[in-house]
This record gives sequence, structure tokens and C-alpha cells, in this order.
Amino acid sequence: MDNICEDCKQPYESHDGPCAASIRNKEDRERAIEIVSLLSKYVNQGRPEQLLVEIMSREHRTLQQRMTTVMLQWFVHLASLPMQFYDARNAKSVEVAKAIMPVLESQYVVVERRGEKEAHLPCI
Ligand SMILES: [Zn+2]
Repeated sequence: MDNICEDCKQPYESHDGPCAASIRNKEDRERAIEIVSLLSKYVNQGRPEQLLVEIMSREHRTLQQRMTTVMLQWFVHLASLPMQFYDARNAKSVEVAKAIMPVLESQYVVVERRGEKEAHLPCI
């Protein structure tokens, strides 16, 4: 498996230049870090959650669906955390995530793919 690119899943020998998937993954990671950093700063300053929700509600409905998927994936992540990875500061988040997981699974909003639980909402 050492000669398989983790990003494009092709042998390194098949690359005839920089791997496009690697570049995209790097850009996606940098963008995600930027977004989470902004969100962290926002909530850390005690800014109103309702304002974020109000602004999000003005976005295109397909994008709203995608944002909801991100949030549901966050719940999937929280619900999967072993005890050593959370404490009193985020225990309620984990408790809520675990409580809603059966509902999400029964609605096929969270499905298991390749051994991993994944949030999925249709985009029309
Ligand atoms: Zn590659």
C-alpha cells in the first residue's frame, strides 16, 4: 500500500505531475481550518448563535441542506467519542448526540458506509 497515493488512491507511478487530488485535499483542509477558526473566535467572544442562524437561513436552500449535513456529521462524531476524549466541558454535547443518533439512524439520515457512520441528506 506504500506505493498508493492516499489522496487519489492511484499508484504514485501513475502521477505525471503534481497530484490534483492531493492539491485539492490540501486546499480543502486549509479552508476548513480557516472556517472552524472563524467560528471558534465567533463563539468564544460570546456572539449570538441566533445571528448565525438568521444569516444561514438566508442562504440558498440547497446550501442550507449541506450545512445541516455538516452539523449532523458533527453529532455523529460526538456520539462516537470514547470517554477519554471528552470531559465535563463537552459532555452534554456528547450526551445529546448519543440521544439523537437512534432517531437519525431510523430516518436514514445517518447511514453506515464502509464501516463508518455518515450523515447524509439529499441535495436536490
Ligand atoms: Zn494522487
